[in-house]
Amino acid sequence: MNEHSLSKRLAMVGAEVPSGARLADIGSDHAYLPTALMLEGKIQYAVAGEVVKGPFESAKRQVAKNGLSNKITVRLADGLAAVVPEDRIDTVTIAGMGGTLIAHILDEGVRSGKLQKTERLILQPNVGEQNVRQWLIANEYWIEREHILEENDKIYEIIVALPVTAAKTDSRKGEYTEKELFFGPLLAVEKSPIFLKKWQKEQQNRQRVWNQLQQAGTPQTEKITEIKEQLSWIEEILAD
Ligand code: SAM
Repeated sequence: MNEHSLSKRLAMVGAEVPSGARLADIGSDHAYLPTALMLEGKIQYAVAGEVVKGPFESAKRQVAKNGLSNKITVRLADGLAAVVPEDRIDTVTIAGMGGTLIAHILDEGVRSGKLQKTERLILQPNVGEQNVRQWLIANEYWIEREHILEENDKIYEIIVALPVTAAKTDSRKGEYTEKELFFGPLLAVEKSPIFLKKWQKEQQNRQRVWNQLQQAGTPQTEKITEIKEQLSWIEEILAD
């Protein structure tokens, strides 16, 4: 992967960035995504935010090497602290991290006033997608689109969210059941072969944990009840 040829996963995140966007890419190791989108002429301006010095330096080098330092600002910062009001960011991408970390970055963004809740959010959690969806719903966002893809034997989900105020027609915006937040409301309707593959694997993993807990005679805890409920949801979705 490089700035001219993104991974399938990052290319799909990039495809969801609107033309002419002012983008904040948070966790922008190498700044591959903003650099590729700028070279394509798709975006107007970008901030590449990175909290670790090494990746921050590589992001800076990448941007400079491509002669884009006047169009992409690379900042060493934790989460959305990378953004200042003059950036006039309208789109935020956060990719390649766990869902809990993504939700934490968004929370901090709201708390510090860096996230206005008017921005389009394009989120690609590696795990813990449910946490991201729960954050969105609790923060007046609705899910406009979801993608699921496989690359190098890993399955990734991409969630595109818009503020409820920007919603057009979906009368259910912002109202999802726990089960929908677990599977992804749109992915669960589409039920693509990759989605089914993911949940077959997840079913096996959970079944293994469940069996171990049963054999160990673990008392009924919230965790066990949760696994049991998830197993019944998975069985149901794979059956119909
Ligand atoms: N976004 C790129 C992608 O999807 O290929 C890079 C993913 S890399 C696995 C995650 C990056 O996020 C790392 O460079 C890490 O240092 C950075 N990161 C983690 N927590 C962060 C935070 N709170 N603020 C900014 N960057 C963060």
